[in-house]
Amino acid sequence: MKPSVLVTAGPTREKIDPVRFISNYSTGTFGYAIAAEAARRGLSATLISGPTNLEAPKGVKIIRVETVDEMKQAVEKEFKKSDMLIMAAAVSDWKARNFSGTKIKRGAGKMSIELVENPDILAWAGRIKGRRTVVGFALETESLEKNARKKLKQKNLDLIVANRLAKGREAFGDNATDVMIIDRYGKKTVFINKTKRKLAKIILDRALELNIGYKTC
Ligand code: C5P
Repeated sequence: MKPSVLVTAGPTREKIDPVRFISNYSTGTFGYAIAAEAARRGLSATLISGPTNLEAPKGVKIIRVETVDEMKQAVEKEFKKSDMLIMAAAVSDWKARNFSGTKIKRGAGKMSIELVENPDILAWAGRIKGRRTVVGFALETESLEKNARKKLKQKNLDLIVANRLAKGREAFGDNATDVMIIDRYGKKTVFINKTKRKLAKIILDRALELNIGYKTC
């Protein structure tokens, strides 16, 4: 039987008031490319997507979410039916402690918003995965390899895709980028100036190799 692949993509939005939110620059390109590649190979592919401008890839079941809590709920439900989770979403690490039901007005001169940490969906998946394969992403501004290896271990991942946010190289959007991939055995491979479409194939290949169920079929 072919494995079923669950992918997350895009940013999440954490609401502050009815018109404002905390988010990030993620466009969803990487996750959408991976889900599209899985479907192209005839695998069952589900994509849980934060808000993006991208169209659902052909042959992919798409679930649209906005907040981390919604993404978490969707992942918890879909991961049960999946052989593999590829967590490419740029999940907001923080959310506002309190949501204001009315638009926050200016005029007080200054204001602060108290933030609380969001649940780590990937770490949860790593804890409960059993024989399933779990792939994480790491976007870093410094100590790329050290931080990636730390995450691989701490979150009990099978594979981590690490991407440096550096001057002159655009990590977000549809551009060619450099990534470092480290697997659960500690093997590191570096890819320079590759499109996300090419990288999607490479990541899926490696994730499938690491998927025990798939190998024995
Ligand atoms: O620890 P850090 O946020 O850098 O880890 C990035 C990886 O963890 C990504 O794969 C991202 O999708 C996932 N993540 C998550 N839940 C969070 C934060 C990150 O699943 N709250």
